[in-house]
Amino acid sequence: MQLGVYIQVPFCQTKCTYCNFHTDVVSAARFRPYVEAVTREIRGHRMLYEEAGLVRPEALADAVVDTIYIGGGTPSLLDSGELQRLVESVGETFATELREVTLEADPETIEEAKARAWARAGINRISFGLQSFSDRELTAVGRRHRRADIFRAVSILRAAGIANISFDLIAGLPHQTGESWGASITELLALAPEHVSIYMLEIDEGSRLGKEILSEGTRYSAAAVPGDDAVVGFYEVACGALAAAGYHHYEISNWAKPGLESLHNLKYWRREAYLGFGAGAHSFSGAERWGNEPDAAAYVRAMEAGRLPVAERETLTSERALEEELFLGLRQLDGIDLARIEARYGVQLAKRFARLAAGGFIEQDGPLVRLAPGRLSVSNEVFVELLR
Ligand code: SF4
Repeated sequence: MQLGVYIQVPFCQTKCTYCNFHTDVVSAARFRPYVEAVTREIRGHRMLYEEAGLVRPEALADAVVDTIYIGGGTPSLLDSGELQRLVESVGETFATELREVTLEADPETIEEAKARAWARAGINRISFGLQSFSDRELTAVGRRHRRADIFRAVSILRAAGIANISFDLIAGLPHQTGESWGASITELLALAPEHVSIYMLEIDEGSRLGKEILSEGTRYSAAAVPGDDAVVGFYEVACGALAAAGYHHYEISNWAKPGLESLHNLKYWRREAYLGFGAGAHSFSGAERWGNEPDAAAYVRAMEAGRLPVAERETLTSERALEEELFLGLRQLDGIDLARIEARYGVQLAKRFARLAAGGFIEQDGPLVRLAPGRLSVSNEVFVELLR
């Protein structure tokens, strides 16, 4: 069985106004004990899982880890020796045939010595949180880097031999206009990343900016956030420009040069097994999902006491697994094989899908069903309709 390993590093230098992740701004003195705790969790996971009645060791006996994803937070803040220890602890614990080892990095944290050390540690892919090429937009949401840092960081990474770089952009940042969005896309294409992720700004109670927008306030440049129609337009512009530049649109928010789709993230959408380590990290065994304690200090205390820091777990019912198949499967532009899913779960879905097809939400191609190209930006509405 191929297995993905996710490692969460929940620390950042400052808190971006739109961020709804559980991350802390802490002193660098907290990094080392945290890395110790995570390596302890990785090395001791078999015993910890057995004690907690999670995956039995024999179920993982033939597991071979082929992808590692170190995310956050801003894991590139860690000392390169600490990152190397995290990667090594996976290699010392699991059978590995590593094909993809990703590190999330922010442009301002990238230095020549660090980048070379990452490559030596086996990190072969950088997921780069650049979000925008407009200094006005970056400043408005409290990002630390500026446009010039992006160009500097990419040339450092290329010189260090990192051949696979993914760029993240956000559509819907305060002050974003059609013109500034077009300029960001043009600059992104000029740097020719291997992979691109484009997210639409999430507006919810989990971020300071989201709260202001929902209460119609003006702090954090909330009043300068573009409207929904404009953001959908930005997404459509990106779809056209990336397709014209030869990128393969393989998931609602993700594009890749052919053959460079994210192997690790594909596991999430295909419902393949992965184990998550660190505060707030999530795991999926195929039958059960569980998540660690999200508070980093509480996580470290639990690991120091030798306890598995699991805060939530869910054994999937057949109904829930089916929902996941539909929701995650339709995020992929290849779509889902309806006959396979109907046979596996013993259900008839044709009526539900006929309703969606009549509304123009989905299209059918033989046994495959996929979101209609013009409906990708409103996928959540389609999923709500589908799960009714
Ligand atoms: S760098 Fe990323 S994880 Fe950290 S605060 Fe900003 S958006 Fe959140």
